[in-house]
Amino acid sequence: MASARTYLDNNATMPLRPQARRAMIDALDTGGNASSVYEEGRLARQMIEKARRQVARLVNAAPAEVIFTSCGTEANNQVIFSAVTGGTRHILVSGVEHPAVLKVARASGAQVQVLEVDGKGQVLPATLVAGLEAAGAKEAPSPVLVSIMLANNETGILQPVAELARITHAHGGLFHTDAVQGAGKLALDMQALGVDLLSLSAHKIGGPQGSGALISAASSRIEPLILGGGQERSKRAGTENLSGIAGFGAAAEAALEELEDMSRIKGLRDVLEDEIQTLDASITILGKDAERLDNTCFFATPGIRAETLVIALDLDGIAISAGSACSSGKAGTSYVPVAMGFDEDLAASMIRVSFGWQNNRDDVERFIESYSAAVKRMRGQNGAGSAAQED
Ligand code: PLP
Repeated sequence: MASARTYLDNNATMPLRPQARRAMIDALDTGGNASSVYEEGRLARQMIEKARRQVARLVNAAPAEVIFTSCGTEANNQVIFSAVTGGTRHILVSGVEHPAVLKVARASGAQVQVLEVDGKGQVLPATLVAGLEAAGAKEAPSPVLVSIMLANNETGILQPVAELARITHAHGGLFHTDAVQGAGKLALDMQALGVDLLSLSAHKIGGPQGSGALISAASSRIEPLILGGGQERSKRAGTENLSGIAGFGAAAEAALEELEDMSRIKGLRDVLEDEIQTLDASITILGKDAERLDNTCFFATPGIRAETLVIALDLDGIAISAGSACSSGKAGTSYVPVAMGFDEDLAASMIRVSFGWQNNRDDVERFIESYSAAVKRMRGQNGAGSAAQED
């Protein structure tokens, strides 16, 4: 990544940590297949098992509970399709889940109930209870699956996962959390959360892209999504992505060791929020009063479309996003603020700034300078800057 640029889109991908890069290069130089019995194979196996311990430690799980996958999306797919294979007929998800849960649940053949979130972006316990009762969870022949994310990728808002998992279990259900955004940014304890299944992604914590994990509590039954060889205790076939796994492990260890750095990162985020609100009191910051990730700021500049700002800032050397990184490469209005009750016009003007381990105070100043100049220019061009005048 060119150093002249200011990268503030860490929820899309966090730059590779130096520890992860070193572990990946070591793994690439190994050249063995972890299933081989000779020395090169044994070395590759050791690297994978080390990474398994490192990833397990990040979430206080047992190493045997870690299944390496190709990404967070695959981990979510495995949870949902495994449940359906096991007879689950009802899946309950929140309306703010990542498409890697929402679309998969809809494609799974199960009946999907989308639980509403409140104005603070959270699923209320009473909403889940009503949903489980409507699904007949206690009488269902196979456990109902509830999948609710730990932290939202756009707003950073946290869900009360421990309580939602407890309620789900009381109704005989199975609870999965997509912890892709929460991991490495929050202290995570799978035992304390009481969840059955948890998804992780390496590139959101400073590891490589194309590497993820499904943590499946010892008590959970999980079916493979990809069949073939006996890798990952037959829960995920295919020769392991050795460098991806080694890099994931090293990133997990570094993220855990540097968890206290999140207070510095929160400081950067809070300065940015103070400064943008001083510039313009009409700015709405989503989740400002909710529990949310310390690195994330998702806000609307009324009257200015998000993609216009994203392009203007990119030309000025700053990377931010309009909500989630859209796989099509096109910016679209995010459904997350709409699910929280915000209108479409405001949703269309929301941008996300998300910090990572590599950011510092200069990045905040660069953003503020560039953002305020861009807004001034756009408002100058468009008159008063109301939503209607922007395009
Ligand atoms: N879940 C959440 C909450 C995410 O933010 C993302 C990535 O954007 C994913 C899942 C998908 O992870 P991956 O990119 O590893 O497939």
